[in-house]
Amino acid sequence: MTDPALPVPAAPPPAASAAPPPVGDVADRAAAGFRHRYGAPAAGRWAAPGRVNLIGEHTDYNDGFVLPFALPLRTVVAAAPQDGDRWTVWSELSDAVVEFGADEVAAPGRVDGWAAYVAGVVWALREAGHAVPGARLAIASDVPLGSGLSSSAALEAAVLAALVDLGGLDLPAEARPRVAQRAENAYVGAPTGIMDQSAVIRCRAGHALFLDCRTEAVEHIPFDLAAAGLAMLVIDSRAPHRHADGEYASRRTACEKAAGLLGVPALRDVAAVDLDDALARLDDDEIRRRVRHVVTEDQRVLDTVALLRAGRVGDIGPLLTASHASMRDDFEITVPEVDTAVEAALAAGAYGARMTGGGFGGCVLALVDADRADTVADAVAAEYAERGFRAPGFHLATPAPGAHRL
Ligand code: ADP
Ligand code: MG
Repeated sequence: MTDPALPVPAAPPPAASAAPPPVGDVADRAAAGFRHRYGAPAAGRWAAPGRVNLIGEHTDYNDGFVLPFALPLRTVVAAAPQDGDRWTVWSELSDAVVEFGADEVAAPGRVDGWAAYVAGVVWALREAGHAVPGARLAIASDVPLGSGLSSSAALEAAVLAALVDLGGLDLPAEARPRVAQRAENAYVGAPTGIMDQSAVIRCRAGHALFLDCRTEAVEHIPFDLAAAGLAMLVIDSRAPHRHADGEYASRRTACEKAAGLLGVPALRDVAAVDLDDALARLDDDEIRRRVRHVVTEDQRVLDTVALLRAGRVGDIGPLLTASHASMRDDFEITVPEVDTAVEAALAAGAYGARMTGGGFGGCVLALVDADRADTVADAVAAEYAERGFRAPGFHLATPAPGAHRL
């Protein structure tokens, strides 16, 4: 199979070389990288986006609701089959080509570093009973690594899509997030909920993905910022991650403990109308605040979905800002950089702003008039400079499609 979109070289394909691929569009870079590394054109290219969560933080492992959408930033994998159980991987982010075979994907932990995300997908597919084809892969990406925009899930989803298509595997879209999550949880060893992989695989352009983390039911909610004259500014806080893993684990433990004390399977089972009763039954103030965040945050997701269904995009701002206050005061997962970005964006006229992602750094979302995005970005950058923080990064988020073949 040859992707008709790929330029087929008129001359014999160049021999594999160590020369860096040309700069350009991420899909071109993946294709050019493939030709440079392997001396032949790829059979196809598969893209998967980064994502942000519009609202619903730390609700996923409480069996609750989240509302992510996919970003125009994406990871592209150019790939072609190769004989036998051999996988060869190159990423533009690393000079080295990594190779592994059946032994390395027989059990987790045998490939480490960035290639573990690729080996993990092969392993998880094989675990699920699929005959994964051997393949050569070349990876390029626009998704910043480690900023909370889910470059890891984008990598897994693009590799998964490539292997499924190359092997003609029978794996419908709704079953793919679990496979990618298993790669990350069990092979790479990073504990994550189902949100990231669901978002980067199942999102649709122009929509946010309303995901029930208990049932994994999804609904595509229209989210047309441009029609409302609005834009979503993504501010990369560039805050150094401080003890994020340990803090995440302690929040999870507190939520599980609270559910046990309240006699419910998960905090999702405490309805917002029953919150006061539930809080009255808990005597630890910290646990009470953790519960209040999760229960009110689930309700804010439902309220946001209701507003979007009614076409009232411009009215979701206060819910975003309330979510931030809840993360800052009750869940205690924000840091000075993200609080500063939120406050500066609001002062510069944003309709709402909140940290997105697990916390202790990552990105901030600000809902702004489309023609004021630059003004708000400048105001945030100025406040950062004033406080001596590392300069923030900025992206504009338009709801983009999930993983697909190019
Ligand atoms: P996030 O998902 O928020 O970006 P993670 O720490 O979960 O942060 O994942 C980042 C890791 O994923 C990187 O350190 C790297 O190992 C891997 N990764 C993501 N994208 C790529 C890529 N294009 N090439 C190589 N490795 C990548
Ligand atoms: Mg990640």
